Amino acid sequence: MTVEAHKETLEFKAEVSQVLDLVIRSLYSNKEIFLRELISNASDAAEKLRFEALTDEQLLEDDPNLRVRVLVDKDAGTITVSDNGIGLSRQEVIETIGSIASSGTRRFAEALQASRGEAGEADKPAGDALIGQFGVGFYSAYIVADKVTLISRRAGLTAEHGVRWESDGRGAYTLETVEKPGRGTDVILHLKDDEQELAEPWRLRTIIGKFSDHIAIPVEMAKETYGDDEDETDEEGEAKKDKAPEFEQVNKGTALWMRNKSDLSDEDYQGFYKHISHDFEEPLAWVHNRVEGSNEYTALLYLPKRAPWDLFDRDHKHGVKLYVKRVFIMDEADKLLPHWLRFVKGVVDSDDLPLNVSREILQHNRKIDTIRGANVKRVLGLLESLAKDEPEKYQTFWNELGRVLKEGPAEDFQNRERIGGLLRFASTHNDDDTQNVALDAYIERMKEGQKDIYYITADSPAAARHSPHLEVFRKKGVEVLLLSDRVDEWLVSHLHEYKGKHLQSVTKGKLDLGDLADKEDQQKAEQAEKEHEGLLKRLKDSLGERVSEVRVSTRLVDSPACIVVGEHDMSANLARVLKAVGQEAPDMKPTLEVNLDHPLVKRLEAEGNQAKFDDLGMILFDQAQLAEGGQLDDPAAFVGRLNKLMLQMFMSGG
Ligand code: ADP
Ligand code: MG
Repeated sequence: MTVEAHKETLEFKAEVSQVLDLVIRSLYSNKEIFLRELISNASDAAEKLRFEALTDEQLLEDDPNLRVRVLVDKDAGTITVSDNGIGLSRQEVIETIGSIASSGTRRFAEALQASRGEAGEADKPAGDALIGQFGVGFYSAYIVADKVTLISRRAGLTAEHGVRWESDGRGAYTLETVEKPGRGTDVILHLKDDEQELAEPWRLRTIIGKFSDHIAIPVEMAKETYGDDEDETDEEGEAKKDKAPEFEQVNKGTALWMRNKSDLSDEDYQGFYKHISHDFEEPLAWVHNRVEGSNEYTALLYLPKRAPWDLFDRDHKHGVKLYVKRVFIMDEADKLLPHWLRFVKGVVDSDDLPLNVSREILQHNRKIDTIRGANVKRVLGLLESLAKDEPEKYQTFWNELGRVLKEGPAEDFQNRERIGGLLRFASTHNDDDTQNVALDAYIERMKEGQKDIYYITADSPAAARHSPHLEVFRKKGVEVLLLSDRVDEWLVSHLHEYKGKHLQSVTKGKLDLGDLADKEDQQKAEQAEKEHEGLLKRLKDSLGERVSEVRVSTRLVDSPACIVVGEHDMSANLARVLKAVGQEAPDMKPTLEVNLDHPLVKRLEAEGNQAKFDDLGMILFDQAQLAEGGQLDDPAAFVGRLNKLMLQMFMSGG
């Protein structure tokens, strides 16, 4: 096999220097994270090697003890992070290190730019809030370095297949084939002039203690030799310089999740969370369990404070890290948590799964199913205790991640009721649109004689709150939940009841207020239906195929008319949502309900001119659709009719 020994200069795949400038400026106040990111990559590489070596022991060569080393050269002004992990081939370097386009760094920069665009504060660094949602990764090295050299050799390749990558992060990098006896990767940071203070072993030890104490791979530094007297150095001369330095471990290097809860402080848990999640913020809460018996495992699960930026991306990866007997197996083991808990981060370490477990095996494994079921219960339990004991924290969680939890009832039949208890909604009980009303609180406030939990779905909080459908509820002082997230339609199509109470849309079917209804009102409506049969029929004739029925409303107080769909029909809002995302929605024929007490309707009834009646009828129907946030099939026709009407009004001097 011939070795590609040539040196080449390659362009980065994207406008790297701009991206880097942005990242560096906004991360500067957190500059220490460069070391966390590099050690994290090194430890990932070591864990990947350990995993691959399970099936190919040769990969370990004669160097089986995996470790990360941090070396300092004060004179040269460099810091080197070195691992004996899996290493990178030439091609892998081009694809991973040379392509900022696919890295977290780039995504981060894009979001950063977007958020600045909104805020219009071009020069202000973004808050940690945004930074916290991204793994910044390898390129964070350029926060402190003006040149980075990476020398790597893929495990399994021979020494002459080493590769040397170097770049100042300004748009191009060089790539060269070199000899590298030891497998793995050295990342050498040439510190900027004003970052030389970092080239201090004690300083680096402190940073490692802060960010990398609990990773499972040992992080080593050269033993510091204090008090060497000059003579000794002189005597030994060259010999001493050549002697390999002795290393000592500077992090705890034990898997944190295997330690006893009682030995771990909040800081320990928080530090570990940051390591696995790359989050800058503390986690909101966590739960740590050891399970003994026929399926032994440890689970450590965290709730983040903030939704990751790609939570609603189709290809958002989720899941927890899976270990088997302390050996790292895979990231984002998505079989260990359901999709509706995709914001949960953490580790599961099993004693009973085979070490060669693959994603395919995870699909159909009873032990995995059991762990997943138990994980769901743990997270639900954690959320329930937050909701009960720390409602403010729970609200933080809900504001960020509630929309994901709302997917739960559709996906998890068994836990539907428990998830129902965790849901929070905006409500007519409140003056603002904060989602903070629990179904239990709603039930407590239900009126005497009220059977159902009432809700309305609309495409914005304002459209929900101001819908004509709420008029009678307002009049009777009955609370209605206001649902305006996209996922809400999905939620209510699966959550039909909670604690024996039916969830009822106020825009569907004949309004049945049960015992709340005024018997008198009811009779009046029935009576009216007969008395005004003529008007109803005339309206139906004018509207033709647009409606299935025209009837007298018991829902309205101030509005002349509203649109109602059948009890089992798709809501008008859902039909809109589907159309908006380019999906088919059935063509529905709604019912038009009219308010006989409204002067407009009275006026209409008295209209003798058929053409005018038709126009007015259409306007009433179109208005009812608009009032709910709906769209008109023919808006220009609506405007035309309205203008005609206004003209007539002016001409008659009205
Ligand atoms: P991430 O770690 O989130 O994938 P990074 O920017 O930190 O993003 O790293 C990009 C990629 O570069 C890694 O996924 C890995 O493939 C490769 N890489 C970085 N450092 C190392 C290393 N020390 N050993 C092997 N591969 C590495
Ligand atoms: Mg990384």
